[in-house]
Amino acid sequence: MGMNEVCSWLKEHDRFAVMGHVSPDGDSYGSTLAMCMALRNAGKQAFVLADPVPHLYAFLPGQDMICRLENCPFEPEAVIHLDIASPDRAAYALAKPLPSLLIDHHQTNAGFDDVMLIDASASSAGEILMRLFEHAGAAIDRDMAACLFTSISTDTGSFQFSNTTAETMRYIGVLIDTGLDISRLSTLIFRRRTLARTRLTGEVLTDMFVSEDGKITVGSISLSMMEKYGAVHADTETIVNYLVEVEGVCMAALLEEGEDSVKVSLRSNEGYNAAEVAVSFGGGGHMLAAGATLHDTTLASAEEMVKKALRKAVG
Ligand code: AMP
Ligand code: MN
Ligand code: MN
Repeated sequence: MGMNEVCSWLKEHDRFAVMGHVSPDGDSYGSTLAMCMALRNAGKQAFVLADPVPHLYAFLPGQDMICRLENCPFEPEAVIHLDIASPDRAAYALAKPLPSLLIDHHQTNAGFDDVMLIDASASSAGEILMRLFEHAGAAIDRDMAACLFTSISTDTGSFQFSNTTAETMRYIGVLIDTGLDISRLSTLIFRRRTLARTRLTGEVLTDMFVSEDGKITVGSISLSMMEKYGAVHADTETIVNYLVEVEGVCMAALLEEGEDSVKVSLRSNEGYNAAEVAVSFGGGGHMLAAGATLHDTTLASAEEMVKKALRKAVG
């Protein structure tokens, strides 16, 4: 579906709920906040359904637009899903189905809303939003720019991943033109971490599994490790990158124990498809970065399953 259809769908409605995915990342928070700001700037009513922003993203503007399902400021009549690979990944399931719009960039997305804008070539949901805003002639103010920069810079690994295109960088230029201080934001996102996150990273890396041929690394985070360091989920987000950056590694996984599930983050280097492995576990994602959530398993047996799957994928 095209931009025109999305624009007319947006014009048709007035009271929006905007949401991203569970275990929200920078793209999820950044794109939902930017969308909500754009809707409000256009005279619409909108709020973001999400958990409160974690410490890592504390600088994000517009956090007063965020609420939980139980304390929404009004009854929405339409819902916008952003950065959500499949319906089970949505941050919230609404009590009754509403007219819906999906904007996403996961290659595994099969589509699940009334109106959809899915482009796997886009670096991030934030980048698709910038295209939409450009198409609609919607102005981008500095607050929106901070959110969109967070979206795009986190999903491109600070513009280092292969999903960074000339178009991505052109949009970053547009964001800089709003007066955004990208050096300050990049420092906050990529070059500052809590002591908890630093120490947790150290323990994961010290104890990671390395296959005999050095092509596979697997790290694990138990609930007790999280407790020991006083860490939260956002503190674990980038640890998997260290695992796949070890010389000679083809594919890496980071497992994070939850209350009743295990979250698997998969990363691969060029030539190896992490999304395929994620899909085999009921998850999804992109070629080089994918994930899945395992239920009815322990951390130890999940580790074994994942090691086997990586062995098969890497050969
Ligand atoms: P993560 O490892 O959580 O950073 O996720 C890497 C990529 O895989 C992101 O684009 C996620 O949206 C996607 N992903 C992670 N977990 C899942 C899942 N359970 N199902 C589908 N996609 C996922
Ligand atoms: Mn995401
Ligand atoms: Mn994304």
